[in-house]
Amino acid sequence: MLRRSKGIISLILIAVLVWATPVLGAPTVLLDGRQLSFDVPPMIENGRPLVPLRAIFEAMGATVSWDDPTKTATAVKGDTTVVLRIGSTSPTINAQVKQLDVPAKIVDGRTLAPLRFVGEAFGGTVGWDPATQVITIVSVPTSGSAPTISEQIKVHFIDVGQADSIYIELPDNNDILIDGGNVADGPLVVDYLTKQGVDDIELLIATHPHEDHIGGLPDVLNAFRVEKVIDSGKSATSKIYNTYAATVKAEGCTYEQDNYQSYTWGNTALQIYTGNETWNDVNDYSVVCRLDTGDIEFMFMGDAETPVEDILTGDLSAEILKVGHHGSTTSTSAAFLARINPKVAVISVGTGNTYGHPAPETLNKLQAAGIKVYRTDLNGNVVVSTDGKTYTVTTTETPIIHEPEGTPPPLPVSSQGTYIGSIKSDKYHLPHCRYAKEIEWANEIWFQTKEEARVAGYKPCGVCKP
Ligand SMILES: [Zn+2]
Ligand SMILES: [Zn+2]
Repeated sequence: MLRRSKGIISLILIAVLVWATPVLGAPTVLLDGRQLSFDVPPMIENGRPLVPLRAIFEAMGATVSWDDPTKTATAVKGDTTVVLRIGSTSPTINAQVKQLDVPAKIVDGRTLAPLRFVGEAFGGTVGWDPATQVITIVSVPTSGSAPTISEQIKVHFIDVGQADSIYIELPDNNDILIDGGNVADGPLVVDYLTKQGVDDIELLIATHPHEDHIGGLPDVLNAFRVEKVIDSGKSATSKIYNTYAATVKAEGCTYEQDNYQSYTWGNTALQIYTGNETWNDVNDYSVVCRLDTGDIEFMFMGDAETPVEDILTGDLSAEILKVGHHGSTTSTSAAFLARINPKVAVISVGTGNTYGHPAPETLNKLQAAGIKVYRTDLNGNVVVSTDGKTYTVTTTETPIIHEPEGTPPPLPVSSQGTYIGSIKSDKYHLPHCRYAKEIEWANEIWFQTKEEARVAGYKPCGVCKP
């Protein structure tokens, strides 16, 4: 019965199409509501509209040039350059390669290219209604800022004192939060996320049931719609754990235990490295995960200690390491550090904490490996932005060092110690000293105390007078 009615509908559809095609003719293109006319009209190929590239780009205010030997069209508008070769499915926008489902082709001497590519190349949006054969393109004004071509990802290590809270901002409004600080940090984390424009949280990871990781999460769960919660499955008898568990339940979201899952959002993947292992120490239940954004990876350790580091398998390499357990000696073994091989280490830690975190031993290990260290106690919020190829680190605070009045604000954002020297000289400086800024990364040597510097044979700089 169903099959027969489908057949009848198909027949009617074909009849309508056969009848309709000559009446409707080629698709109409409306650019910002204005109908464009073409000498070679758009066409439909395999159900996809192909539209005249030059005519539409020029109507958008772009300059188009054509190189006949290579059959390549180049269009420039503002600081955006689009390069498309006939027959190729990989055009570039500002040298970034894009993928087309169908290649551009030449029809009667004109380049026809897929609608979505043409409409969106300069940041516009497109619509296509097969029923009315109307293509709509809404462009962005030339005076406006250039469209963001690359997919920016930002990882925010929120300064929650002696605790962890990491917000990952992905393209297309996908938001991940790993931990939420102590109970008292709840409002701060909610405020931080609100200011970043978070509407809902696609994935919330509670690494392990210590207060400095789950404490602020009930506030987060109450403030935002959360789609999915992952935790280690390890429970605790504490009041905060009970509140956390009850709030997750009340949220009615999907809940999973860590089990080596992976998730992808566009070009970004999140891999969980932990599952149902059993440990003596609650810290070792931490959900460990890695964010892969192309060439740049982030490793998030929670409070996992060396026993966990030792059992992790697979590719662990990452440019950015969230150091395990606030820089305690019980984490970040030399062997593990070598496997991660990070360029940057972030330590989430509170000023004057009673645990002595981060341990000088850990700092020395990071320093010896030439890793740039950022600490929330000295740097405030640490934000790493990446387009999947390179990354930049920004911080809200520059390290606070005891310094004379009227000294210019410190510039270096790295803070592996209180004093910095160069292996090429015998002077040590305050990090903001103009001589300190000239020291190349590879030559940096850091000291926690003046005594340490003196023992190493370094003398105080006469300019910054450390
Ligand atoms: Zn912790
Ligand atoms: Zn812990």
